[in-house]
Amino acid sequence: MREAEIIIIGAGMVGAAAAYGLARRGIRPLVIDGGDLDYRAARGNGGLVWVQGKGLDMAPYQRLTRRSSDLWPELAAELEKITGGDIQDQRKGGLMICVGEEELASREGTLMRLHNRPGGSERDFEMVDRAGLEKLMPGVPFGPDVSGGSYCWRDGHVDPLRMLLALQRSIRELGGTLLSDQPVRTITHAQGAFKVHTDKGEYAAAKVLIAAGNGSGALGRQVGLDVPVRPQRGQMMVTERFPPILPLPAGGIRQTGDGTFQLGATKEEVGFDISTTVDAAATMARNTLQVLPFLGRARLVRHWSALRVMTPDGHPIYAQSETHPGAFVALCHSGVTLAAAHAEMLADAVAAGAFPDEIAPFHHRRFDVQTAA
Ligand SMILES: Cc1cc2nc3c(=O)[nH]c(=O)nc-3n(C[C@H](O)[C@H](O)[C@H](O)COP(=O)(O)OP(=O)(O)OC[C@H]3O[C@@H](n4cnc5c(N)ncnc54)[C@H](O)[C@@H]3O)c2cc1C
Repeated sequence: MREAEIIIIGAGMVGAAAAYGLARRGIRPLVIDGGDLDYRAARGNGGLVWVQGKGLDMAPYQRLTRRSSDLWPELAAELEKITGGDIQDQRKGGLMICVGEEELASREGTLMRLHNRPGGSERDFEMVDRAGLEKLMPGVPFGPDVSGGSYCWRDGHVDPLRMLLALQRSIRELGGTLLSDQPVRTITHAQGAFKVHTDKGEYAAAKVLIAAGNGSGALGRQVGLDVPVRPQRGQMMVTERFPPILPLPAGGIRQTGDGTFQLGATKEEVGFDISTTVDAAATMARNTLQVLPFLGRARLVRHWSALRVMTPDGHPIYAQSETHPGAFVALCHSGVTLAAAHAEMLADAVAAGAFPDEIAPFHHRRFDVQTAA
């Protein structure tokens, strides 16, 4: 039986960021990850660090997202320093590009609702018309129907695969342990310690953080954390490489640091189905061509799907078990964006054994049905 101060189950975006945060505080986490056939959103996502439009119906989510974006440059610098690799983090802002005047007005309405809500007052976005868009991105050959968009200076993007690798390497560099291909089968609790069982061994710790993405439901139930989580499919496509053309990422279209254009993603409720469909490819291509018609000549290199880790209201879940204190769960659908907050606030909360006010509202008890007396 191997012992650790804390075990983290899952080395995806959430588990790796939290483990990195703990390791940089001098706590050496034992991270146990599953196998290559697991559903892994960390390896199929869009790489956006995205703030605009988030938290319309939950103010703490807006604050958490902003906080994470603000912490991102520091996280990127640390990861690059530790690993010596470039994770292609760029925080120069991002755009939702609108087609037609109606879409532009509707976008403005949404962002103003968010802005006018109590506590939402910091204005980190501006609406731009077509001329404003052309000023922000000079020389970009936009389609004739592009009307403008919303620009948020807190938005940005990163290479998500390089980022995941850097997080995982940094955990090891800072003294943590990462075991791969060891799906956790059961978690038991006795005499103040959690025992985590895999096919290859048993591990014990006083604390366990379940960050197994879409695999978290089954594990959580074993320690009194019955979290409502479901997969939501997202399909994406990527083109061949181009010289730098699009200086800022846009929702649904970003030019990566390697020159490719990444397109998508869809939002589909199809359970654990990771097929790709021609219909989705056609829709993504159509949407793209309205914004950047020249991409009609681009060769498509890859089309894939991955499963988002989704909760009923789309907001994260962070909770400590009431029946098994010391067992925690963390789930979210924007794990790239929130990685910096996870390395800071989530890691602090797990280390302290208590959740601060910033993340307390994310307990899954918010989904409990209230019955009339
Ligand atoms: C198409 C798509 C596009 C996206 N775009 C963005 C974006 O642009 N920006 C953004 O912020 N977010 C984006 N996301 C969301 C982001 O990828 C996820 O929020 C994030 O990956 C969730 O992290 P996670 O660690 O909870 O889950 P995952 O990343 O799925 O990782 C879960 C890990 O747990 C492991 N695991 C599962 N079961 C077990 C077990 N029993 N024992 C041990 N290990 C286990 C798995 O092997 C895996 O490594 C996107 C997602 C999708 C699908």
